[in-house]
Amino acid sequence: MPQRFVTSILEALGHPAVIVGRDERILLANQAARDVLGVGIEGRHHAMALRTPAVLTAIARCLATRERAEARHSVPLGTRDQVFRVSVSSVEGADVDGALCILQDITATEEASQMRRDFVANVSHELKTPLTALMGFIETLRGPARNDPAAQERFLAIMDREAGRMNRLVRDLLQLSRVEAEERIRPSDPVDLAGLIQMTLATLRPMSRAAGIDVRFDPPAERPVIQGDADQLTQVFHNLIENGIKYGAPQTVVRVVMFPLQAPSGPMVRVDVIDQGEGIPAIHLPRLTERFYRVDTHRSRERGGTGLGLAIVKHIVQRHRGRLLVDSTIGEGSTFSVLLPVGQPNPAAGGGAG
Ligand code: ADP
Repeated sequence: MPQRFVTSILEALGHPAVIVGRDERILLANQAARDVLGVGIEGRHHAMALRTPAVLTAIARCLATRERAEARHSVPLGTRDQVFRVSVSSVEGADVDGALCILQDITATEEASQMRRDFVANVSHELKTPLTALMGFIETLRGPARNDPAAQERFLAIMDREAGRMNRLVRDLLQLSRVEAEERIRPSDPVDLAGLIQMTLATLRPMSRAAGIDVRFDPPAERPVIQGDADQLTQVFHNLIENGIKYGAPQTVVRVVMFPLQAPSGPMVRVDVIDQGEGIPAIHLPRLTERFYRVDTHRSRERGGTGLGLAIVKHIVQRHRGRLLVDSTIGEGSTFSVLLPVGQPNPAAGGGAG
């Protein structure tokens, strides 16, 4: 029968689709539509399956005027909504007369654009705070503090700090976008990881001394060589050790421990950065690597944080086909672990340049 022909076309569409007849009941539905809207929707009034008012209006309009219409429809899916763009077009022939509704899943696109909007809002907010301070102090220096050298010195010190904050933010944003752009290209230079960590520690020494924190690292006798990008790996351990110093308690120790590991995928090296700070409540752990996510915004800002350090770490580790693990106990401290595959680059794998 001709309806079989229409049904086979509906199945071939690759999106959930239903045809609403002139009697406003669902005449035909494909399997994808039954999966999303429920089994047994055929024969029922379309409002039972597609309850969104905008979709009902679009269907009514199409049935009345044969004009094409579009509307959004959302279906609860766990803790979030699955969002569809429903296009409604008039169809006629092969024993079928009504409105064809095709549901295109736009959840991922919607989420991506929401993330982009949130990101731009966050960046603007992060830049606006120091900028407002700078503009305020410029005005004060030109006005009330014009002839007050002591105040000028004080304000210039604050301006220096705020400009430094903007500078770090822009540097981290550029770094993050570079790492994200290269994430699929696996780096291929041989890197002596222990040597790289020793050099990173040397550059952080003044900071750890000023904070009264002792950073210890005993390189293992057998030094692993990994396939990587030395600059980016330096950034990873710089960010993790710097966080250990920033969030560690004074007169405590930050330990860096390196050891080999046999994973199902092959040999790996694990580096733990262990601090004795106040620890991170478990509820925050899954979100720590999100951009601008901070447990305590005030504390992060006070210590010169941008909220991007761990996001950068996560992307670099992913680029190296590694893993980042976080474990923390309140009152005892936190351990950030980086697991990286060990071994020389395999030329046959064609990993690309770092
Ligand atoms: P920030 O620039 O704020 O340090 P990060 O992305 O490096 O940004 O870290 C995100 C947040 O994770 C920090 O603001 C802090 O709240 C928390 N955090 C990171 N490392 C540690 C640590 N070693 N101990 C306690 N909290 C930490």
